[in-house]
Amino acid sequence: MEYTIPMPQRTRQQKTSFADALLAYYRVHGRTLPWRAHTDPYPIWLAEVMLQQTTVATVTPYYARFLEKFPTVQALAAAADADVLHLWQGLGYYSRARNLHACAKAVVADHGGHFPRTEEGLRALPGIGPYTAAAVAAIAFGESATVVDGNVERVMARLFRVQTPLPKARPELRRHAQTLTPHTHAGDYAQAIMDLGSTVCTPRSPKCDRCPVAAFCAAYAHGDADRYPLKTPKAPRPAKAGVAWCLLDPDGRLYLRQRPAEGLLGGLWEVPTDGWEGPLPAPLARLTATAEPEDCGTIRHVFSHFSLDLQVVKVAVPRPERTWVSAADLGAHPLSTLMRKVLTRAGIF
Ligand code: SF4
Repeated sequence: MEYTIPMPQRTRQQKTSFADALLAYYRVHGRTLPWRAHTDPYPIWLAEVMLQQTTVATVTPYYARFLEKFPTVQALAAAADADVLHLWQGLGYYSRARNLHACAKAVVADHGGHFPRTEEGLRALPGIGPYTAAAVAAIAFGESATVVDGNVERVMARLFRVQTPLPKARPELRRHAQTLTPHTHAGDYAQAIMDLGSTVCTPRSPKCDRCPVAAFCAAYAHGDADRYPLKTPKAPRPAKAGVAWCLLDPDGRLYLRQRPAEGLLGGLWEVPTDGWEGPLPAPLARLTATAEPEDCGTIRHVFSHFSLDLQVVKVAVPRPERTWVSAADLGAHPLSTLMRKVLTRAGIF
């Protein structure tokens, strides 16, 4: 027995270890996911990076394409930046793709192509945060590391009826998660607790009636699981607006520019915009339209920390010496979801 949560009324069931109850459930009901077929750290790490802020359904086809194109960490390390970004496009949070690539290069250059086997060693790699380090250490190497993501935080808040609201509650929730982490079966336990949060202890309407750890759950005992985790009210999401200029040369080719490697949507290609990140560069603003600009309407895109309304305008212009791309060549330029919305609205993509 690893740990038993003290409960006001002791029953026979409560003497069963939390970890034992969860593992028994996981062995029967655990999800079958493509990355669970692997014991090699590379595909496990790849899946964990992709799954951050992204659903299993979205990640699954990307994961298959990545492994097919880059079957080893050496193959990924040797890839061109543009190829990595290209395969990632549409998955969002593009800094993850750049960090993924930097991490693969570090594993090959500094560790002979082998991932460090401990949570601490993994943390020292570029782009690997506490969650990913713990997940890879537990699942690939069997280290008794505690995985804490949003799902696990929610489960802990309910199990212990934590009265501190998020995000302030994070250290307390982590401590609870550490207390429950067993010393054996670390990989299965990490996946079991994440499955519990994803499929049973869901954000809305948790399925307490079929929860394997209901006997250990303070919120269940009080009948108020829906109240947890408590949250500090969010400030309203700021709204930004601007114009996306789809400039077309006399041959119908589109002007694209590449964003700086660092920062929002780093390294991706885009049509020029103004009004939300700064004005249109002067040489572009001086171009004279050869026909009446076409207002294609406005698209909305919601980033994690602001929303953006972009008016999409299509303009025919003479061709200056810049990067002009035919519709057939668009696929060679990694584009963000925002830009694909813009170009779809303009009837170009
Ligand atoms: Fe979550 Fe309900 Fe299980 Fe408690 S009993 S851990 S609230 S699903």
